[in-house]
Amino acid sequence: MRIRKFTAKTVKEALGSVKAALGPDALIIGTKRLGDGGGYEVAAAVDYGLDGPVPEARAMETSRREAPAGGAFAHDARYVQLLDEIDELKEVKELFNSVITRADTPMAKLYERLNSELGKNGIDARLARKILTNAFKGIKAGASANAETLKAQMKRKLFEKVRVTDPLDGKSVVAFVGPTGVGKTTTIAKLAAINALKKKRSVALLTMDTFRIAAAEQLKTYGKIIGVPVEAAQDSRELGARLAAHRDKDLVLIDTAGRSQRDERHMEELSSLARSNPEIKFNLVLSSQMRDDALYESVRGFKAAPIDSLTFTKLDEGSVYGPILNTTLLSRSPVAYLAAGQNVPEDIEAASRERLVDFFMPN
Ligand code: GDP
Repeated sequence: MRIRKFTAKTVKEALGSVKAALGPDALIIGTKRLGDGGGYEVAAAVDYGLDGPVPEARAMETSRREAPAGGAFAHDARYVQLLDEIDELKEVKELFNSVITRADTPMAKLYERLNSELGKNGIDARLARKILTNAFKGIKAGASANAETLKAQMKRKLFEKVRVTDPLDGKSVVAFVGPTGVGKTTTIAKLAAINALKKKRSVALLTMDTFRIAAAEQLKTYGKIIGVPVEAAQDSRELGARLAAHRDKDLVLIDTAGRSQRDERHMEELSSLARSNPEIKFNLVLSSQMRDDALYESVRGFKAAPIDSLTFTKLDEGSVYGPILNTTLLSRSPVAYLAAGQNVPEDIEAASRERLVDFFMPN
């Protein structure tokens, strides 16, 4: 991050210079009135090197703000820009009274330090900026704050924001969707084993992944070991019949063909599956090792189905978990499960808010 100061007769003029020099993503970190009618000084910072997928994040926010019908994402660059400008003006107003009035103050340095820590944890640059700005604007003029207090405060705020859910609570039918190879079948096997063997619930497994013989066979093998029925359904009509046959079951878990979110036909199939079987809850399975932009693209693409919850797999394959939090907050979906290994059924846990917040800034 680089910090620069701009002086002008009015705040508006100074902000204009900030935008011209640093671009629309510059963060206004302080505004100060200069003595003897000397106008105003605006301190601004801009991120360099933190290549967070900001435009993607922004597109997702726009779509939320517009609540488009049918899951389509509307893109109106001017509208997004306007919303950004309103946000920025709000920040300026609130920061007027904050302690960060000079770029070289300890508070500004602390901001930079925390920002870089969040970047290292994989937190999206834009999200980090939002969270930090919120935390810093709480500090009243003349007061100071230390890193620990701010971290605790940011974590408390995040704790209120992140949501978790248990889609298998009570009698449930859950379809697991997501890109190929993220671990849908393995996740289903883990959940089936825990529920059938440990919790003694009646479980049936259905697979719609009839394209790859190996995939259906894999689920059948798991079903045999666990002792639960596994059946295949070619399409949404067949699935309806299978669901009716298993009405007595506590849980029906549905494996779907892993497809790219860009496969429009598959997305249309999912959408029609959801329409004709409204009792199905949809869990989107994503690998925690995917890049932010791929995660966001999946969330957008799989909105073809009404996604009720998220599962993140392969936590054992990496050590940076920020993207899990980025995706969770940007999609506003609750998290159901976290999987960290290939062992069935051990390597899965129900998501907790404490655990999710730890991804933001481990202690
Ligand atoms: P699907 O195509 O989404 O159904 O994915 P699979 O369940 O077939 O899993 C693909 C591969 O990822 C397999 O080799 C799994 O053993 C592996 N896998 C699944 N979950 C995890 C996990 O949490 N950690 C690791 N390391 N591997 C996993």
